[in-house]
Amino acid sequence: MKTLPYTKKKIVQIVKDYPTPFHIYDEKGIKDAAHRLQNAFAWNQGYKEYYAVKACPNPAILKLLYDNGCGMDCSSYTELMLCDALGIRGENIMFSSNATPAEEFVYARKLGALINLDDFTHIDFLEKNGGIPETICLRYNPGGEFRLGNAIMGNPGDAKYGMTREQIFEGVKKLSAMGAKKFGLHAFLASNTTDNGYYPALARQLFELAAELHQKLGVQMDFVNLSGGVGIPYRPEERPVDIDQVGREVRRAYEEVVVPAGMHPLRLKTELGRYMTGPYGSLVATVLHEKNTYKQYIGLDACAANLMRPAMYGAYHHITVLGKEDWPCDHVYDVTGSLCENNDKFAVDRKLPRIDIGDLVAIHDTGAHGFAMGYNYNGKLRSAELMLHEDGSVELIRRAETPKDLFATFDFMHLFD
Ligand SMILES: *Cc1c(COP(=O)(O)O)cnc(C)c1O
Repeated sequence: MKTLPYTKKKIVQIVKDYPTPFHIYDEKGIKDAAHRLQNAFAWNQGYKEYYAVKACPNPAILKLLYDNGCGMDCSSYTELMLCDALGIRGENIMFSSNATPAEEFVYARKLGALINLDDFTHIDFLEKNGGIPETICLRYNPGGEFRLGNAIMGNPGDAKYGMTREQIFEGVKKLSAMGAKKFGLHAFLASNTTDNGYYPALARQLFELAAELHQKLGVQMDFVNLSGGVGIPYRPEERPVDIDQVGREVRRAYEEVVVPAGMHPLRLKTELGRYMTGPYGSLVATVLHEKNTYKQYIGLDACAANLMRPAMYGAYHHITVLGKEDWPCDHVYDVTGSLCENNDKFAVDRKLPRIDIGDLVAIHDTGAHGFAMGYNYNGKLRSAELMLHEDGSVELIRRAETPKDLFATFDFMHLFD
């Protein structure tokens, strides 16, 4: 069963002040996710989650997570600016970038962020642009396929990220010679996986590599960054990750590899985006049209510009017709937006209750990689973002775009004055 943190009555109230479409985030859900994760890794001294800012780059969300013990994982100049503006600096920022522009390294170093290097050549590049810090992380790519048991979980050999094993060894040597004293290791091998075995398998790989570096090069290993990738159940029949079990199994790998290698205490870090906010956001839209041709279409006032995942990946997002939660799903619809693109469909052949024009629908699980992936194709404007606070109050945390915002980079607005 997929649930929502609000009723139709509540949304009808909200819509009076903030017309659809909008994304609305559940403060309590996000706070609880942060605490659940922190509890699961409480056994590790120095554990810290760095929220992947790209998943929902809204200052209100970032502040909520920061106030609840999280740091921020940034990968661009403006993501660093968001942290800077919120007073989030130093080791509260992980800078996990790739193909990095010089000014981004300079800025990240100025803020004192932990730097996660994506490539061997970035060592010299960083030295020239910001300098080599005392503590530095290297991103590992083991190549080939990443398997858990028989299942292929990811394809690192095809991914643009990270360094080969050899490059990690050469990199650590080179960085040591340049003055680095403490090292971190990072890898991201599977995306959106709800397999409880992912983090433990990844952790074991990184712990073993860390142990080898420690033993062969005599360097101090400071942390292992398990990055993102822990998934969420987008479909009603999927089960959520058991984060406590994940924490326990990572601990077992720690005790079997890290402790005997003499690397204890080794700090753990994560950079989860989807797990932290994905389930705690939804896109609320109004049904504008119903169309019957070779199929039955429901046309919304939201479109793929507000939520790209279904169009881009064919991703499933659950849809609830508000107020009809208990109605039988005896209709089959394509639920569409208004882009001149046939992939602008939030759902294809979806069983839903009978939908009427004017109905309000909630598209679930848009709290990560939802609004953030928005764009302006067809001149569509980005929606508002709202926060549903624990006390039931609603706050506008980003206003909707206006045509003026869209045209702000032209020099012709005076024509409209
Ligand atoms: C996207 C990304 C994340 C977050 O991924 P999720 O799937 O949202 O958990 C973390 N780290 C890096 C480097 C990323 O690129």
